[in-house]
Amino acid sequence: MTRVNPCVEQTRGAVVRGLLLLIAFLLAVTWVDSEPALARQVHQASVSARAVAGVAEQAIDKRPDAKRESPDVPSPTPGATAEAAETPLADLFGQMFSAPDESGQSVKLALAAENVLPTPDGRSRQMRIPILMYHYISDPPRGADMVRRDLSLAGSDFEVQLRYLASEGYHSVSLYDLLMHLQRGAALPEKPIALTFDDGYKDAFTVAFPLLQKYGFKGTFFIFTKPIIEENRDYLSWRDVELMSAAGMEFGSHSYSHPDLRGRSPEFMAREIVKSKEDIEAHIRRPVRFFCYPSGSYDRKVVKAIKSAGYWAAVTTQQGVEHTTNDLLELSRIRVHGESGLERFDALLNLNW
Ligand SMILES: [Zn+2]
Repeated sequence: MTRVNPCVEQTRGAVVRGLLLLIAFLLAVTWVDSEPALARQVHQASVSARAVAGVAEQAIDKRPDAKRESPDVPSPTPGATAEAAETPLADLFGQMFSAPDESGQSVKLALAAENVLPTPDGRSRQMRIPILMYHYISDPPRGADMVRRDLSLAGSDFEVQLRYLASEGYHSVSLYDLLMHLQRGAALPEKPIALTFDDGYKDAFTVAFPLLQKYGFKGTFFIFTKPIIEENRDYLSWRDVELMSAAGMEFGSHSYSHPDLRGRSPEFMAREIVKSKEDIEAHIRRPVRFFCYPSGSYDRKVVKAIKSAGYWAAVTTQQGVEHTTNDLLELSRIRVHGESGLERFDALLNLNW
């Protein structure tokens, strides 16, 4: 029988206790140290522009049909992105920006990074460029009232106008091109002109789109999403929108239900301004950067909401052709009336606004 020396027993006990204490100490130190480290990481992740851009980049690559859209987008300066990351879009709309499911979230994150307005290069610019405003490109229905007739330009008249623009040396530009010129001095073609179409009527796809393609012009289509979601046949379908976008047409939001946005609640505004933007983006998989005030109605608060929602610029129904770096959210346009002959069209373009 082996007898254990009590001294050895004691010593062994002390060693074990010491070891346990040491392990406990090490664990405590690691835990204490890891907490601020973790906090630092979280903080960095939430404010670091690079972190946000990185996540977005990965999200783009992970998309099923992963393809970088808008390769022409200049990488935003760290300052600009940091500002975007630190000032969440939610300042006006609370949590409505970031509710939904996981899959939608990654696309949103990806697009959010491309949605940052490029930092201006510090130069204030002014330019004269007509932004034409069209509605229906088709004959008005029999018995249509004056308003409807005024909103409707026959396809044949539209083609005459396009042919005229081409022969006069005009080059169509997107609002993205226009904005990049105002913000960063990006080059524009000679005699630039922008063609915008409000409301997303079906003839945008069946008449305007093929004619624009025939003459090599770009168009910007401001759609409101309610009739599309409800599959109203008088309006574009999501498939129309996707095909047109893939062919180089630009899309902007014209709200969800085309209401007067003045004096509305944040919840209402979120659906009209933010949700419509997200719905269009989910379909065309490109950032939606431009807004068109429904019926041209807006006030200071609406302008602020549009800016908070991440739009770069917005068009109005104010008549004019001069644009400056300072009026991006109130861009004026020229209304092209229905039943207007070439003479009147020419006068519109050359009027001293
Ligand atoms: Zn409208």
